[in-house]
Amino acid sequence: MFDKVLIANRGEIALRVLRACRELGIATVAVHSTADENAMHVRLADESVCIGPPPARDSYLSIPAIVAACEITGADAVHPGYGFLSENAKFADILAEHGITFIGPSADHIRIMGDKIEAKRTAKELGIPVVPGSEGGVAGVADGRRIAKEIGYPVIIKATAGGGGRGMKVARTEADLEQALLTAQSEAKAAFGNDEVYIEKYLEKPRHIEIQVLGDGKGNAVHLGERDCSLQRRHQKVWEEAHSPALNASQREQIGERVAVAMRKLKYSGAGTVEFLYENGEFYFIEMNTRLQVEHPVTEMLTGLDLVQEQIRIAAGAELGYSQKDITFQGHAIECRINAENARTFAPSPGKIESVHVPGGLGVRVDSAIYAGYRIPPYYDSLIGKLIVFGKTRTECMMRLKRALGEFVIEGVDTTIPLFQALLKEPDIIDGNYDIHWLEKYLARD
Ligand code: ADP
Repeated sequence: MFDKVLIANRGEIALRVLRACRELGIATVAVHSTADENAMHVRLADESVCIGPPPARDSYLSIPAIVAACEITGADAVHPGYGFLSENAKFADILAEHGITFIGPSADHIRIMGDKIEAKRTAKELGIPVVPGSEGGVAGVADGRRIAKEIGYPVIIKATAGGGGRGMKVARTEADLEQALLTAQSEAKAAFGNDEVYIEKYLEKPRHIEIQVLGDGKGNAVHLGERDCSLQRRHQKVWEEAHSPALNASQREQIGERVAVAMRKLKYSGAGTVEFLYENGEFYFIEMNTRLQVEHPVTEMLTGLDLVQEQIRIAAGAELGYSQKDITFQGHAIECRINAENARTFAPSPGKIESVHVPGGLGVRVDSAIYAGYRIPPYYDSLIGKLIVFGKTRTECMMRLKRALGEFVIEGVDTTIPLFQALLKEPDIIDGNYDIHWLEKYLARD
């Protein structure tokens, strides 16, 4: 097992990883930018190192600064959290060259899944159903027209190097195609430094359903069921739940097993998520995330597994030690992402938190790094916490969520708490009857 883990992240996820390490008796190193000197992860870690100025590219994304922090502190492993360097294969390679373990999958698997065309090709080969679309990148407008015609409109144009819901454009008819293609290419270039795009069938009313997996790199892998992340704004998840209100046990078992088989063939190592769109009873692979996800606690609530501790154990060379039949699910869980944003306009609302009251009680978990007096810096993602609620049934979970949201007080900045309170009154949400477009339509109302 590792002696000391450096956590190359900030905010709630840095704290989440720190807690897992502490329970395993592993010392922790926090890294931080000058904007995060007073952050909770810095206060709680055993040691901390300042790695640069506020912009992420000069601190949390700076590989030399992080490697230097490992060397100074003698950390023998790095947990990247999510975002930042978590899906950067070069980072994993460089750590390996320095004899430091990257707590995550192999650099090869990160590379394959980070290229969305390659990821789809691999998924297909492994027997996972994919969204119909181009086999490779689009060569130009004429090529794009030909592919789109073959697939049939509407189509969606997506960046090969994409992530975070950016660089996607829908073309409903051939007349829209050229513009959509050029815009997607220029957005992809600006966001990812790579203008390659691909085309796939645009699904009109899908749900976003993803399967959590764990593998040990030795051919053992299990699935931990699904999460339904259909409630999205601008292709970004807002609310996640398990089980999906749309799936029954045998559907879950079928898709889960298919994914687990694929991960065994791939000899996948660590935690990963295989994402699907689900429409009319069919699953269509869209991508695989080779890291821990924001919404992982939903799965922890149902399975009782600590996913971060599992990642650490696996990275340290342990075998999985359990098989699919040992994985059982209990109850229902919902996660609400609490952002420092206006709940109507979604304008970011950085600033000082004057006071906080965090909800508690049976089945309520809050993963957050805020405290009274904390000043949210304007440089990073606006996620300031996650409220995760468990219930024996979905109904109990929703009642508890309503109660917990009512207790949650954050003064000084705007938050998305009122949005969730409003959502809980919507019949479609109560019934679990929503697709990936539901929230956008709801927000466009009145
Ligand atoms: P990213 O890596 O940027 O998150 P994804 O491929 O995971 O991109 O897609 C993010 C979201 O975009 C999906 O959850 C879904 O809402 C929407 N989306 C992606 N592909 C399609 C598609 N073929 N049809 C309809 N919506 C899509």
